[in-house]
Amino acid sequence: MIRIGGVLVSPGEGGVYGERMIDGYRVWDPYRSKFAAYALLGGERDLAPEMRVLYLGAANGTTVSHVADYVEVVYAVEFAPRPMQDLIEVCRHRRNIVPIMADAGRPELYAGIVEEADLLYQDVAQPDQVAIALRNVPLLRPGGTLMLMLKTRSVDVRLSPQDVADEAVRALEEGGMRVAEVLWLEPYHRDHAAIVCEAIK
Ligand code: SAM
Repeated sequence: MIRIGGVLVSPGEGGVYGERMIDGYRVWDPYRSKFAAYALLGGERDLAPEMRVLYLGAANGTTVSHVADYVEVVYAVEFAPRPMQDLIEVCRHRRNIVPIMADAGRPELYAGIVEEADLLYQDVAQPDQVAIALRNVPLLRPGGTLMLMLKTRSVDVRLSPQDVADEAVRALEEGGMRVAEVLWLEPYHRDHAAIVCEAIK
């Protein structure tokens, strides 16, 4: 991904969420995007032009728009009507985003319209985040990557964030994933861990 003077940017048309521009590139705000936080904190995974991304929890398209600046296509799943309206507006300016209004916990609803993904990215803040991710793994190509942005407080506020992350890693491994990286997203996002895995199939 591109950096200008240490600032993470993406190459696309601006004006999605009032983002700043530097030398014609869009500044990618780590406080608004867990993917940007992950990249700036030293996360190992990169985006590439030939990638197909299945994105769960698209919201109003902030992060989706930056990801779409780097990859071939983003299938963007969101179930709430209000953010979906904004996402559709973002899609008018980016032809490589396919908005899908559906519950990410029910991938059978969109399995027929998405291509096999190289990257499955999930940011849904639900108690069953890991189960949702595992249900979507069949839509990932063999050897593809899952990036789960785990909001630990949504899973169980009584447990420590570390315990929630440890349990998520265990469940992902039991679900057939190889966990490659766990990166906490402080100071940008409190009690969030990026868990990066590979699908072993
Ligand atoms: N990823 C977004 C970004 O960086 O721009 C922010 C996502 S926000 C934290 C979480 C989003 O996930 C919300 O818009 C919510 O409606 C959506 N969401 C939560 N559960 C979902 C589900 N089961 N299926 C689809 N969308 C879901």
